[in-house]
Amino acid sequence: MARIVMKFGGTSVGDLARIKNVAKKVKAEVDRGNQVAVTVSAMSGVTNQLVAYCTEANPLHDAREYDAIVATGEQVTSGLLAICLQELGIEARSWQGWQIPIISDDAHGKARIVEIKGEDLIKRMEKGQVPVVAGFQGIGPDNRITTLGRGGSDTTAVALAAALKADRCDIYTDVDGVYTTDPRIVKTAKKLDKITYEEMLEMASLGAKVLQTRSVEMAMKHRVRVQVLSSFSDAPGTLVCDEEEIVEQELVSGIAYSRDEAKITLVGVSDQPGVAAGIFGPLSDANINVDMIVQNVSQDGKTTDMTFTVGKADLDRATSVIKDKLKIPFKALNTDKNVVKVSVIGIGMRSHAGVAQKMFSTLAEKGINIQVISTSEIKVSVLIAEEYTELALRALHTAYELDAA
Ligand code: ADP
Ligand code: ASP
Ligand code: MG
Repeated sequence: MARIVMKFGGTSVGDLARIKNVAKKVKAEVDRGNQVAVTVSAMSGVTNQLVAYCTEANPLHDAREYDAIVATGEQVTSGLLAICLQELGIEARSWQGWQIPIISDDAHGKARIVEIKGEDLIKRMEKGQVPVVAGFQGIGPDNRITTLGRGGSDTTAVALAAALKADRCDIYTDVDGVYTTDPRIVKTAKKLDKITYEEMLEMASLGAKVLQTRSVEMAMKHRVRVQVLSSFSDAPGTLVCDEEEIVEQELVSGIAYSRDEAKITLVGVSDQPGVAAGIFGPLSDANINVDMIVQNVSQDGKTTDMTFTVGKADLDRATSVIKDKLKIPFKALNTDKNVVKVSVIGIGMRSHAGVAQKMFSTLAEKGINIQVISTSEIKVSVLIAEEYTELALRALHTAYELDAA
């Protein structure tokens, strides 16, 4: 007997027929003699619609009310799945974040889980009950509903698995595992049997939305065994695990992309100490995260250009901070939203040279200009024009010999 948390994403609970299909999958796990807790997302498209209502009501809406509104999608699916499970003879009960409680911090709209009080759920599971927990939501110190950021049901599932001391956390979605890159863009993408926590963390934070970044952080911290698999087939999925469990480690295990970046260039800032601090200080004071940065070599020894990226959603705020708050003089401010960050990820990079060079030469052969570069121990990222996203992904996928046979 094992204790398992099963999570079903938006497409998997997209309509009533699919919720009934999910109920059958849960029943099968119960029939195998396992203790099961379930987490669900909202029906696909529902969260987007709820977010759109908030923005339409007021683009600068109150984050507490945003949370009260967008958390409702998961309330509906948790109740519906409980009904469908009861239909199959399973003793199921829905749980909202505040009822358990799933305690979060007060960062409404992107709250972090602080603690889950799992004792009562464990007792119920031991008696054969199946809790169906609404994903994506918690309760903050102000006693109000919080949400965990887009894709946050993954984090609910992993946090629940840690709190319930589950043997496994199975993330059911609309693809049958983690692929070498987004299988919807590169048809030759290969399913990975296993991926390390570190690589999955980079893949997620660099744009592969198959798992929310925080869910991977949480899995890594609490050593939760996470499996990604399909709701629509019985194919084996991908296990996210420790490096030691992977026998043959590839040099590059995946390629991710993010269209979420925007580029800002400050032309003609003076080339002297304190300039970077003078630019990035006010941005950080305004809570704007800067990602990639490049400072060009000064041609005349006096002035230079500073290029960096921020999240697309922060671009307007960033430009107004630059215009209103910067004490450092500059000649011009250029912005560009039509960019994409493409990253190659692999633990093998720690011990092998040449990975970055292969990326640069592959993009050069396709005539794709690299605008900004950033690297870490196990990844290389480049910023390129958005129109080349597919071309770059496919070319890199082939260059690193990742194509499925
Ligand atoms: P869910 O609603 O089940 O949470 P998501 O849409 O959040 O599903 O995540 C699944 C999607 O992630 C897939 O449909 C796929 O397009 C995308 N994706 C991006 N990169 C990858 C990758 N490397 N492997 C698998 N899926 C990926
Ligand atoms: N429903 C939420 C979203 O669409 C959470 C999730 O699906 O994980 O972002
Ligand atoms: Mg998701």
